[in-house]
Amino acid sequence: MIDFENYFDTNPAIMLLIDSENGQIAKANKSASDFYGYTIDELGTLNISDINILPRVECLKQVKKIAKKELANCNFKHRLKDNSIKDVKILATPIEVDKHIMNVAIIEDISVELKNLEELKKYYKIVDESLAFIGVANKEREVVYLNKAFKKAIGINNNEDLSKYKTSDLYTKEAVNKNAKLYKKSILNGGNWIGENELKALDGTIIPVIQSGIVVKDSSNNIDFTSITAFDISQKKAAETKLIQSEKFYKSLFDNLNGFAYCKLLYKNGKANDFEYVLVNRAFEDLTGLKEVCGKRVSEVIPGILEKDFALIRHYADVVETGIPRSFEIFLESMNKWFSVSVISTDSSHFMVSFDVIDERKKHEKLIQSSLRRYKALLEISKDGIHVIDKAGKIIEVNDAFCDMLGYSKAEILNLNLNQIDVNFSKDELLDKIEEVIKNNSIIETKHRKKYGTIIDVEVNTAVLSYEGVDYLYCSSRDISERVKAEKISDEALNRLNKIASRVPGVLYQYVLRTDGTSYFPYASEGVRDIYNVSPKEIIEDASVVFNRIHKDDLEGVIKSINVSAKNLTPWQYEYRVQEDDGTIHLLYGNSIPQKQPDGEILWHGFITDITEQKKAEKALLELSDRFKHFFDLHSAVMLLIDPDSNNILDANISASNFYGYTRIELQQMKITDINILKPEEVKREMELAVNEKRNYFVFKHKLSNGELIPVEVHSTPILFDGKKTLFSIIHDISLKEKSEQQVKEYTNKLERMNADLDSFAYVASHDLKAPLNVVNGFLGLINSKKDSLSKESRDEYLKYIQDAVNQMKLLINDLLHFSRIGSNKDSFVMVDVNHLLISIQDVLAETIHKSNATVTIQPLPTISANKTLLNELFMNLLGNALKYHKSDQEVLIEVGYQETPEYHQFFVKDNGIGIATENLGKVFVMFKRLHTQTEFEGTGIGLSLCKRIVEAHNGQIWVESVLGEGSTFYFTIKK
Ligand code: ADP
Repeated sequence: MIDFENYFDTNPAIMLLIDSENGQIAKANKSASDFYGYTIDELGTLNISDINILPRVECLKQVKKIAKKELANCNFKHRLKDNSIKDVKILATPIEVDKHIMNVAIIEDISVELKNLEELKKYYKIVDESLAFIGVANKEREVVYLNKAFKKAIGINNNEDLSKYKTSDLYTKEAVNKNAKLYKKSILNGGNWIGENELKALDGTIIPVIQSGIVVKDSSNNIDFTSITAFDISQKKAAETKLIQSEKFYKSLFDNLNGFAYCKLLYKNGKANDFEYVLVNRAFEDLTGLKEVCGKRVSEVIPGILEKDFALIRHYADVVETGIPRSFEIFLESMNKWFSVSVISTDSSHFMVSFDVIDERKKHEKLIQSSLRRYKALLEISKDGIHVIDKAGKIIEVNDAFCDMLGYSKAEILNLNLNQIDVNFSKDELLDKIEEVIKNNSIIETKHRKKYGTIIDVEVNTAVLSYEGVDYLYCSSRDISERVKAEKISDEALNRLNKIASRVPGVLYQYVLRTDGTSYFPYASEGVRDIYNVSPKEIIEDASVVFNRIHKDDLEGVIKSINVSAKNLTPWQYEYRVQEDDGTIHLLYGNSIPQKQPDGEILWHGFITDITEQKKAEKALLELSDRFKHFFDLHSAVMLLIDPDSNNILDANISASNFYGYTRIELQQMKITDINILKPEEVKREMELAVNEKRNYFVFKHKLSNGELIPVEVHSTPILFDGKKTLFSIIHDISLKEKSEQQVKEYTNKLERMNADLDSFAYVASHDLKAPLNVVNGFLGLINSKKDSLSKESRDEYLKYIQDAVNQMKLLINDLLHFSRIGSNKDSFVMVDVNHLLISIQDVLAETIHKSNATVTIQPLPTISANKTLLNELFMNLLGNALKYHKSDQEVLIEVGYQETPEYHQFFVKDNGIGIATENLGKVFVMFKRLHTQTEFEGTGIGLSLCKRIVEAHNGQIWVESVLGEGSTFYFTIKK
């Protein structure tokens, strides 16, 4: 027999012995005491229902079940002494003790275990609901667990038994192999693995995943299971593939379609003048044919581009400088290609260019235009504004009329879209309209804006042109602004016409001749009252009242002329008279144009005016012109009629014929420029002054038939002659007047000169003559006062002084007399051979010449008309001075020479003497002006003033050129 008691008490398991009748705890072992926190004795007083948290009745039920062996194994919650509750597992069995059934319960504390289980459940849920694919396999590689996501991905139902699957069923073949390797590796080295893999669903779909796997071993290092966590990366894969594809796409685009270049703009002196290729694509090379351009400048790569196509660099620079992208088409002469270019700037010096060669398109455009050529002739001669547009409204071709209509140049207009011209439709409406018109040709009325803003109404006729499957619209437009305007104002027109007509002198009318011979005025302006003394209404049905007014002598003629005009449909023009009631007669002039009406009636439009006054004036004019003719022909003054446009002399009177020495007929065939010596353009200018009445007095020189030039005074007035402006000129010979004027001038000059000389006399008298007089006076005084005491020597000496002074005075007075005698009496002029004159002068001066050891050279001299005595005097003085004012240490050289000018004989006397200081050059010709004292050089200071006077008597001039110390040249002229 087992020592139950000992077994019970010392058993490490928690044990209780419970009375099956009432649940009373009969015995508890040490382990129970430890577990529940009660002493063994305390436990012996408790009922199991004190510990089990079930209600007492329920608890007893369980105890009974155990006693009856209906329950052996169950879980409960037990409350410990400290009130904490523990999950416990009970293993109970009934035993018979003293015929009493007792339950032996072994209690296992399962609270920790349960807690773990809870935790596990939580994890399980997370794992099961996770979006990642999570699976577990045992070491036989059989699938033990797959979470929901995994199952769904593979296509396994939630409740399906997993044990039939092996891991290899879940992967593609390659993946299985890959996994096997990784698996092995992991087993050897431990740890987990991670990598891309491919799951295979039951339907064969491949799911790319990234997965991590781990091999879990048990405590004795045997493989327990393998866990896999995988993520579906199919979307990422798809995106990646897409990305790769689009990259490929763009790359091919980049390489094959457009040319691309990334460039750097280069500057010189702050101005963009070149650029460098940084990067280009393959298409760049294909399109341009340029190879290995990177790092090079465009000017190196494309020679001549800077010179021929600088516009390109300008475009790029603008884009870089403004940052505004630009697209344009350009023909590069240096490459002989058309390009379409788009540019954007990337920073302040770089830009990207995408371009295409559009030669083909340009060629196409050209073709289009050439196909239009056959329309072109039509285009150019058409008065309508023709323009060809494409579907987008771009203007492709225009004629001149269209340009004129809108005020643009052809080049300007070809850059426009129709929507920039049309103001009636919005951009979109216009496109719709074009579409519509292409479908059903139609006529459109619209409005166009001219270059400077004026809006015009136009009517556009359209036709479709197809070229290579592309439709173009051939539009022919006509400016109908006027028509539109006209329509608008048509109502007012009649009123206005009436208003205007009422202001026109005379009558505006319409006159109708019926087929039966009667007539009427459907319209006549108010002026009809003045002319025929009837109202417009009175004659609207019947014109006869008008005819009653016509002078009886003219009536027949009027009717006849009307009939002729009606028959031949020629304009009716007639002058006739009407007679008023009081007998006054008016002269009328009528003018009208006939039109045959469909019904056979003849309608005239015309006007009639009263020309009585005009006729009177004409008659008066005729009479006047007759009178004028008479006056003109016979007047003693010289008169010419000149046509200012042609310069023709239209008429000349008898006096003119006498004066000029031509016959009147000759004069009428001449031009005024044949007579007036001014240049034709000068004549024209002067004549314009006369025609425009700016001036009517002129002084000219006219040439007579004998070649003589006569100064004339001309009075010119414009007059109407045969309805044309004509110059009427009266000509006076003023040659006599001019001559006498000249004489007066000469006399006046002479008088002035004489006055000046008289002034000089006065000066001389007061100064120079006074000096010797004072000397005389002084010495005479001395002699007088010292009468007795004066020694003979002193008296003789004084008398000598007096004598000298008197001699000086005599000299002076002689010179003065001589001077005053010099006149310009022309009668005393003779022909003088100046050569001879100088030979005789040299004879007179021979001694002086000899004394001063001078050489006198004389050039050949002319024979001139002059006063011989005076000319002699002149040369004597000049040569005398030349000999006198010489330098003592030098040979004296004197030269006399001559030069002819158109109006004068010019002589000079040149010496190499002492010369004259520049400041004294003007003084030497002044009377009594001397530059030296008597002791230096003797003289009176009158010689050169004499010379001046002599030269002036010959209407000439005298002057001197000199350098002090080097010599002087005296020039003088004698008027021819
Ligand atoms: P004069 O009787 O003093 O010679 P002129 O009227 O002839 O008077 O000359 C006036 C002055 O001009 C002279 O005093 C002299 O100083 C100067 N003169 C005249 N002729 C010459 C000459 N050939 N060379 C230098 N000086 C001259």
